[in-house]
Amino acid sequence: MIPAKAYAAVDARTPLQPFSFSRRDLRADDVQIRIQYCGVCHSDIHQVRDEWGGSMYPMVPGHEIIGEVVNTGANVTRFKAGDKVGVGVMVDSCCTCKNCNRDHEQYCEEGMTGTYNAMERDGVTVAQGGYSSQIVVKERFVLHLSHKLDPAAAAPLLCAGITTYSPLRFAGVRAGQRVAVVGLGGLGHMGVKFAVSFGAEVTVISTSPSKEADAKRLGAHHFLLSTDKDAMKKHASHFDVILDTVSANHNYTEFLDLLDIEGKLLIVGLPSKEPSLSPFSLITKRRSIIGSMIGGIKETQEMLDYCAEKNIVSDIEVIPVQYINEAYERMIRSDVKYRFVIDLATL
Ligand code: NAP
Ligand code: ZN
Repeated sequence: MIPAKAYAAVDARTPLQPFSFSRRDLRADDVQIRIQYCGVCHSDIHQVRDEWGGSMYPMVPGHEIIGEVVNTGANVTRFKAGDKVGVGVMVDSCCTCKNCNRDHEQYCEEGMTGTYNAMERDGVTVAQGGYSSQIVVKERFVLHLSHKLDPAAAAPLLCAGITTYSPLRFAGVRAGQRVAVVGLGGLGHMGVKFAVSFGAEVTVISTSPSKEADAKRLGAHHFLLSTDKDAMKKHASHFDVILDTVSANHNYTEFLDLLDIEGKLLIVGLPSKEPSLSPFSLITKRRSIIGSMIGGIKETQEMLDYCAEKNIVSDIEVIPVQYINEAYERMIRSDVKYRFVIDLATL
């Protein structure tokens, strides 16, 4: 077994604390990675605090992992020691069903294996995430990172990046379209960067007036305060696509009404409560709602290569691992510009 240091949650209420455990010995198709940086996603908070139910403890969160390969199993062909690599939200899937065969491992018919807070496919081990010194991952789920990208600022691409890139691509966002991004947090600020890079006219819809200048600096063309009901009304039937990244319970109908005919509401934020929805807002303009979960491995690699080509990374605040509990509190207050990234050298 490979010893690893980490920060873990022991239950839903106690602050995260130092934790020691072991990673498995390498199988033939495994890659061993020394973790350098790990982004902090709002999904980490949802799961640490058991907001979705079924959380397993002790839990080492973290699924925006960047590191360096230190060792490889006998059958690994795509990686060697010293390579810069990333690991995202999943570390395994059945790899044989129709969805896996179409490079949609995240929609595996048997269920993907999450990077943490998930049972490994051996049925006994609990997967542990990236707030740790080392990780061992099946080759298929490891991604190449270009040396052109700053490794700390690239870490959030592994979740916030792909989770916004994939639905915007699926919706066919292109030049000339009006796109709104709701919620300027980790996911939202990546959504703005991608939609702008695809040529769209981009509006940030936010609850935080203080974020207007940042929204423009990130490339957004307009800023709409969702608490300003008059301004919201003026934007009725205005957008072709709206990407909703909000982490807290909120009203979706309000955003549906802002969609033009055949507009698409892309839902990626995961509040715990089931929303109520007006069917009238849907049918009166043949609008649709599309949910999307991260992206497959092939598309994640495509996104990382696109980011290297276009020089797109996340705006980050690098923190020592000891700051993690304070970072969670700040994220809940929407006080993050725009992603915390843990420097694991501080473990
Ligand atoms: P984050 O950095 O905390 O950003 C969330 C943003 O939502 C905040 O910055 C804030 O933006 C807005 N917000 C917060 N509370 C609000 C409220 N009460 N009403 C309206 N807006 C509010 O979170 P994140 O890491 O980007 O994650 C966002 C959500 O996506 C989470 O629920 C997460 O679990 C989910 N997620 C989904 C996937 C997927 O595969 N679908 C992947 C990763 C994460 P403003 O200040 O601009 O209003
Ligand atoms: Zn995430």
